[in-house]
Amino acid sequence: MEKPDWLKVNINLNEFEKVSNLLKKLNLNVVCYHAACPNIGECFAKHTATFLILGNICTRNCAFCSIKKGDPLPPDPNEPKNVAQAVKELNIRHAVITSVTRDDLPDFGSTQFVKTIQEIRNIQPQTIIEVLIPDFNGSLTALKRIIEEKPEIINHNLETVPRLYSKIRPQANYKTSLGILKQVKRLNSNIFTKSGIMLGLGETEDEIISLMKDLRTVKCDILTIGQYLQPSKEQIEVIEYIKPSTFQKFKSMGESIGFLYVNSGPLVRSSFNAEDFSKKHI
Ligand code: SF4
Repeated sequence: MEKPDWLKVNINLNEFEKVSNLLKKLNLNVVCYHAACPNIGECFAKHTATFLILGNICTRNCAFCSIKKGDPLPPDPNEPKNVAQAVKELNIRHAVITSVTRDDLPDFGSTQFVKTIQEIRNIQPQTIIEVLIPDFNGSLTALKRIIEEKPEIINHNLETVPRLYSKIRPQANYKTSLGILKQVKRLNSNIFTKSGIMLGLGETEDEIISLMKDLRTVKCDILTIGQYLQPSKEQIEVIEYIKPSTFQKFKSMGESIGFLYVNSGPLVRSSFNAEDFSKKHI
């Protein structure tokens, strides 16, 4: 299916190179490359990036995701310090830290998140920290470790409506994912919670509305809604390109049911323009 014009983007190559050289020097991964994000040029030009910790190989196999699947390496002990160094060198005001899913580790990777948060706080305490976490296989112990560090925002993406989980996120569970957001608010209501979904995978409007209501039931504060784009032929095909006006409609609906902020548009990704929220609310 050919992409409509609203999904075509330009890249600022100079800034792109500057940031990518720094990341190479520090041996860091950013999700922007691995997930083939369409906003990579714009984010790099604004000196923002979503750091991908715990390596670049995932133990899960989501049908939409282009991150490599297989047996990951042990966590890199230098990674937390290097992420903090990049945050400092790029003078990042709002850092987003995410990871592959590490079902192979006894702590599901939660300790590496903790160390990364601590290193950023040490070197650049004014930076707002958003963690986009995996489900830690439903481990409350792992989740509590993150909550204790008090990142300003804990993000966990639902990605799609429950009916499509077996096809799109076969190793995940909708209720477990909602439960993560619920536990964060129960254990520390001062932490903002955030989630995101992709459209164009065959979901219906009623299913999206019902998902938005589920998120508000667990007091989720922030929602991102973007168009799914097939990163390569190996991932699931796009069923539909959703019109910008429909994204606008979901934004209005979301705000009317109580989200503090809804970022909804064809090119919106989970951490795209994440600082828009923090500038207003943090
Ligand atoms: S768990 Fe995350 S990183 Fe792993 S395949 Fe799924 S979307 Fe990609």
